[in-house]
Amino acid sequence: MGVTALIGLQWGDEGKGKIVDVLARSMHVVVRAQGGANAGHTVIADGVKYVLHLIPSGMLSPGVRGVIGNGVVVDPFQVLKEIEALEAAGHEISGRLAISGRAHLVLPWHGLLDSALETERGEFSLGTTRRGIGPAYMDKTARDGIRACELLDEVRLVRTVRETGMRRNRMLAAMGSPVVPLDELLDRLLPAAQSLRGLIVDTVDLLHGALARGQSILLEGAQGALLDLDLGTYPFVTSSNCHLGGLLAGSGLPPASIERVIGVSKAYATRVGSGPFPTEEAGPVGDALRKRGGEFGATTGRPRRCGWLDLPALRFAVATNGVTEIALTKSDVLSGQPVLRFACSYKDAADGALGFPPPELLGEASPVYTDLPGFDGDLGGVDRFQSLPVSLRSLVEAIEQACRVPVSILSTGPGREHVIWR
Ligand code: GDP
Repeated sequence: MGVTALIGLQWGDEGKGKIVDVLARSMHVVVRAQGGANAGHTVIADGVKYVLHLIPSGMLSPGVRGVIGNGVVVDPFQVLKEIEALEAAGHEISGRLAISGRAHLVLPWHGLLDSALETERGEFSLGTTRRGIGPAYMDKTARDGIRACELLDEVRLVRTVRETGMRRNRMLAAMGSPVVPLDELLDRLLPAAQSLRGLIVDTVDLLHGALARGQSILLEGAQGALLDLDLGTYPFVTSSNCHLGGLLAGSGLPPASIERVIGVSKAYATRVGSGPFPTEEAGPVGDALRKRGGEFGATTGRPRRCGWLDLPALRFAVATNGVTEIALTKSDVLSGQPVLRFACSYKDAADGALGFPPPELLGEASPVYTDLPGFDGDLGGVDRFQSLPVSLRSLVEAIEQACRVPVSILSTGPGREHVIWR
């Protein structure tokens, strides 16, 4: 049955959690493969709202196996908190969840370092969640991280946490930051390690076993293509590769196992934190999209910057990730806008194949817009593409033409039932 990968095509918050939730019911295994608790997926299942940071969103479907792969950076306290909250809400998790022993841990010094670095950058801050995800990846690439497998051996864990912690505390003190009381940390970490021990396995082996048995696997991307560490709008990007390649390296699944790559995009655009956003609407249009779309961060509560859909950006994300189909979300949010607008190209763009300016030129780049008449009314009850307002159908067709892949899923509201399959 192979692997389906799901990737955000914008700057994150595309509504991936909802699409995962809808797809997961037909999956055997759902996998997170990159990022950490800086991702926040909001899923409304059976009228109940869940915000998941580390646990794969697909686990809200009963019986589906969940994997936190080797590419994720895991805060052990956060993952336990999420397991407890979901179990309290009636979802059995611990018997279905596996965490890779190769996954790196996010520990309290990472959050402090994140804050200290952001403060030091001043007006040039990146706008991180300050949850320590970037510094955990810094330790990983410096070959100085602590991995989940270290939780399996208490003696070794104590030694490693003390040794690494002392070095990190020296660094924090030099930056004028509070340090981590290591005894206190160990008092909390050792019981957490005990609770997590049964979940830590070789997830690469687990996933290859699932493949060999012909099971269906869903790779849940976090963040989005334009936040990818290599291909995104550097330096205003996330600290992991949210590109399809990052999902493969972060899970150990082979490229040839991928059968579908579903790219998720909103019908407009949003961005959290700093960085270029050429189609941003800072005035009343942006305010209206933010209000109607509830565009406030699931992790931080920060208001998101809002603007129009950017087709060259979408084409770039689709092309670089080999996306085979698009899920378009939040189309209902456009209702009530007097004009429905999208960027179709960039002024003075070089005659490249994709037409999306590189990050160093994006700040100055001027989008060229196409306008369509706005539409009114609630899309909640619409269950056929042909019954949608003409302008919305034209927008879908423009996306398909620009990206050369079908829009196969159209989301018209937050609930599981608000989906049109094409
Ligand atoms: P993710 O990080 O990509 O999963 O996205 P978020 O969870 O940050 O944001 C998606 C938000 O939009 C959630 O509150 C969803 O319930 C909501 N949502 C998803 N699809 C739709 C849709 O089609 N219409 C509306 N109105 N809300 C949606």
